[in-house]
Formats: sequence, structure tokens, C-alpha cells
Amino acid sequence: MEGRVSSFQSLGTVDGPGVRYVIFLQGCPLRCKCCHNPETWDMHGGTVYSAQQLVERLERYRNYFGETGGVTLSGGEPLMQAAFAAELFGLCRERGIHTCLDTSGCVLNADVERLLDRTDLVLLDYKQTSEPLYHDFCGMHMAQADAFLDVLERKRIPTWLRQVIIPQINDSEENLERLHAVANAHCCVEKVELLPFRKLCETKYAAMGIPFPLADIPEYR
Ligand code: SF4
Repeated sequence: MEGRVSSFQSLGTVDGPGVRYVIFLQGCPLRCKCCHNPETWDMHGGTVYSAQQLVERLERYRNYFGETGGVTLSGGEPLMQAAFAAELFGLCRERGIHTCLDTSGCVLNADVERLLDRTDLVLLDYKQTSEPLYHDFCGMHMAQADAFLDVLERKRIPTWLRQVIIPQINDSEENLERLHAVANAHCCVEKVELLPFRKLCETKYAAMGIPFPLADIPEYR
């Protein structure tokens, strides 16, 4: 099978455990206000690779993975190419490469289930903790993220919840309490990661000629 890739990061250390080869898949139906990768939105952009070509790339880096590293599929939204991602993770599993999926959880279908069955760790971007804010912030409903988390719980897939903390939007104690309540209600959640809001992506928006929605919000200190 073939899929669309936006870019690669060969020695990533922030998207999952250990040293990771991060593959940013092309295509995302959401429009998160803090999105760092607007160049991945276009479903028809990126470069086409076969799953076999990608796993051969991964093989070149496996000496760096050590005990805990491996591959992370990010994006974009990897679930938009779930059948392709499932084939890639299947090839990784055959080779003993740890598989990690960085996702918003916005899609649930048979291909996504098959992908999850080949996923060792999910980084679930749980974007907000109240429904009106969730939908306004990214375009998906909190109930979709909750349904996805319930599937992770049922399948017992180790999960890290991640949330970008943004001044004036979700840097309140109440938000953190709600986020930890979600984590505590699910045995699959191993960790909660809070990511400080940064604006390095502004140059990308400027180059694409689109306004950065959070231009007036300061970075998190
Ligand atoms: S899900 Fe990820 S790629 Fe898609 S808009 Fe949100 S932050 Fe950007």
C-alpha cells in the first residue's frame, strides 16, 4: 500500500519514549488553533511512499532505538490513512520495532481498530476538557475523544494523554483537575503530558499566507 508523508524526523525525543523515528503523515480534517503543522492539512499534499519503503528507512535507524525507542506516526492525523498506517505498523511489529501513534482520536472505523491492534503506545491529544471549548478549539467533539479513549481502554493499549497548555484558554486549575479525572478513570492511561504553548509555527502560517489564530496569545511561561 502507498500513503502520503509530509516529513520525517530521524532522532525525535519528545514524541514517545526513547529515541524515535517520527513520520508525519499528510492530511488532517481538524483545524486546531495551536496547530504547529498546517502544512500537513492538505489531504492531497505530501510525498507518496509505500509501507515497505518506510520500514526500510526505519531499519537504517534501529541501532539508535535502544530498549525503548522506535517509530512514532504523527501528522497531520494518521487516522486519515489508517489502512496504510496499519500495514506499516504490521511490518514494524514483524521486525520488533516499537510502534507509537500520535493522534487526536477523531476517527473510529474498522481500519483504525486494525491499526490500534498493532500499536504499542498511543499519544492521545486530549485537546480541551469541556465540550464547547473542545469543538471551538479544533473542530471535533470531546465525545469523539472520549469514545476513542474507551476503545484504548477496552483494548488495554498503553496511553499517554497530552494537552497543550495555552494562557487564557486552558491554563486553569479546573482544567488540570478535569484532565487528571479523565486520566484516573482509565487504567490504560500511564501518563499525562502537559506541553507548553509555543509560537515557533508562526513563520509557517506567514509563508502559507494564513493568519495564526493564537497570534495575540503569549507563549506559556
Ligand atoms: S490534529 Fe494535529 S495536525 Fe490536525 S489541526 Fe490539530 S494539531 Fe494540527
